[in-house]
Amino acid sequence: MYSLHSKQVPDDSLLSEVNSLFEQQIKSWNTVASRYQYLNEVKSKELTFPHCSALITYNPSRSISATAKVDPQSIRQRACFLCAKNRPPEQVPLSWNNYHIQVNPFPIFKQHFTIVEQEHCPQLLSPERIHDMLVLARALPDYTIFYNGPSCGASAPDHFHFQAGNRHYMPIEQETDSYAELLGMSPEVSIKYHPNELREVLILESNSIASLTQTVSNICGLIGQVVPQLPEPMVNLLALYKNSHWRVYIFPRRAHRPAQFFEEGENKVLFSPGTVDCGGVIILPAEKDFEQMNHSLLQDMFKQVTFTPEQFSILKELIQTSVLC
Ligand SMILES: [Zn+2]
Repeated sequence: MYSLHSKQVPDDSLLSEVNSLFEQQIKSWNTVASRYQYLNEVKSKELTFPHCSALITYNPSRSISATAKVDPQSIRQRACFLCAKNRPPEQVPLSWNNYHIQVNPFPIFKQHFTIVEQEHCPQLLSPERIHDMLVLARALPDYTIFYNGPSCGASAPDHFHFQAGNRHYMPIEQETDSYAELLGMSPEVSIKYHPNELREVLILESNSIASLTQTVSNICGLIGQVVPQLPEPMVNLLALYKNSHWRVYIFPRRAHRPAQFFEEGENKVLFSPGTVDCGGVIILPAEKDFEQMNHSLLQDMFKQVTFTPEQFSILKELIQTSVLC
């Protein structure tokens, strides 16, 4: 059994350690085991567009995250659920560098982890955090590592964390190989974009962790030039590692939630998109929303929260003048 002060897990055994942590937690934590079991019964339907697709899912256990109040006053008034002292007693962490890796108690993926900074400090990207994300992706090649910005998906914007979920679940992983178009190369990093019907996305690939870290960091800064936002430019990030190189997806955002989220009654849609939704798995905690979801409603809601084509064109120009060689 692991404890809070368990030994550090080295990178080369991290994959087997997180997999055995998952098995242990499923055996010893019944409430959470039943939520993972329920994932097999989650209702889903596919919406197909010419250049992308979306897997619409009805997942009631995600209502806490979808409705999380993330304004500064609400955050100040609640106990931080990612701090070790406030975690459920059944939740056992694995120590890796300055993080605790733990099973996510409200799963989207069949194996779903939260990777929590050990100290209570804000959800903010830095080159060091981007580097950590890439190291995690390499150490956990069976998983996609993701980051929700503090104003676009993180339900704990006051406590730094990544998440990890199984590869090959989010539709975008398959789509971009066929449709991505090359924007150019920065040293050792190819920068592509994926023209599609739902949301603008950049795809970066490299086998150099240093160059990729710097390029992701630079592009996040440019996103803030197009749509300024505090405390940081709004982005959702996905990172994965295969065939000795990394791939990072950057989704630039301009709003947290669509207007439908704030409606009352029939017109309300409980859609609070984060990285996984941008990756093509649409998480709807209300059954009515699942039943009524269709192509035009989904496109309308994504349009409100992601970059417009005009904003994305400005971003591409900025990348071409200041990042590409
Ligand atoms: Zn905390």
